[in-house]
Order: sequence, then structure tokens, then C-alpha cells
Amino acid sequence: GSQQKVEANVLLLGAENVGKSALTVRFLTRRFIGEYGNIESIYSHSDRIDGRDINFNIWDSLHPQNCEVDGCISEKQLQWADGFILVYSICDRASFNVVRRQVQRIRQCKSKVSGSTPIVIVGNKRDLKHRRTVSSEEGTLLALSSDCEFFEISAAENYHGVLLVFHELLDLIREARALK
Ligand code: GDP
Ligand code: MG
Repeated sequence: GSQQKVEANVLLLGAENVGKSALTVRFLTRRFIGEYGNIESIYSHSDRIDGRDINFNIWDSLHPQNCEVDGCISEKQLQWADGFILVYSICDRASFNVVRRQVQRIRQCKSKVSGSTPIVIVGNKRDLKHRRTVSSEEGTLLALSSDCEFFEISAAENYHGVLLVFHELLDLIREARALK
């Protein structure tokens, strides 16, 4: 029989320079190119995962300049997204604080799906161990206390970790929809 195509709107959030674009481009092309510029874009990407056709719409956002509180998310973004990837750098304490606030903001909102809004927290730049200022435990704890999944990855050095992040988020989105 014909299976329906799954649509998943994925929004990447986080402070500047944490690797949101690197993560996006890695997922789309399997490559790491190093410089991404300051662009905001929504990419459409079709994939076949576990025998199912998936269409990802991936919004690689720019951190807004005009908001008073660090880590704000627009109403439009909250409405649009089926799931969120919140990225910080393990070398940037301030970026972890941004993610903490963004988790709170999303959790305050009514979910588009019936379960808890799907969120994957990503500690990126794992390859820069010598410059680490945010421990793995802190990431794990934040995720546990806010019902999110958590991965530490290196968009620069490991494609597999990037794949896990998107696949996990897709699973969460499908679970949440199944609860409807
Ligand atoms: P964005 O502002 O969050 O979109 O961040 P970018 O994707 O533009 O990345 C910012 C900088 O960090 C760029 O110079 C990237 O090459 C670098 N970068 C991204 N991911 C990694 C990573 O996993 N490891 C290292 N060492 N650098 C990374
Ligand atoms: Mg970017």
C-alpha cells in the first residue's frame, strides 16, 4: 500500500558561532566546509529512513540581534517547528546558558503535537576537548530535567553523531504525533 510521506519541520536554535550551520550542512551534504557565513535559510531535504519517505524542512536560524533577553524565540518559529535542535558549544559557557533559556521558553509554550514538544540538545565541538568549559554532566542534567534528548557531537569530525541527532528528533516527532 502507499505510505504517506512524513513532513518534519526542524528548527535549529542557539547562540552565534556554535555550529548550527555546520550541523545543518553536514546533515544535508555529509561534508564539513569550515566557513558558513551569517545566513539564515530553510532547506528542504528528502530522505528515506527505516523504509519511510521523510521530508525534512530544516530552518537554520540566526540568533536575533533585536531581542532584549538572550535566547528569545519568535512566535512564528514556535508555531512553525515540529521539533527543535538546540545547539551550544562545549567551549562556550554563554552559549549553554542561551540553550537553557530557550528550553524554558519552548517548555512554557503549548505543544503543537500532543506529547512534550520534541527537543534535542546538542553540545557541539566535542573535538575541542582542551577548551571545554561545559561538562558532559551539565548537558545531561539539563536534558534530564527538561525532558529532552542530549548528544555531544563534533560536526567537524563526525558525521555519524550528526545523523543520530536528526534521527532521534524524527523519532520524537513521530512518537508525539502517534499520541494524538
Ligand atoms: P553558527 O553561527 O551557529 O551557524 O555556527 P557555524 O556553523 O557558522 O560555525 C561557527 C564556527 O565554528 C565555524 O568556524 C565552524 O567551522 C566552527 N565549527 C562548527 N562546528 C564545529 C566543530 O564541531 N568543531 C570545531 N572545531 N569547529 C566547529
Ligand atoms: Mg549559521
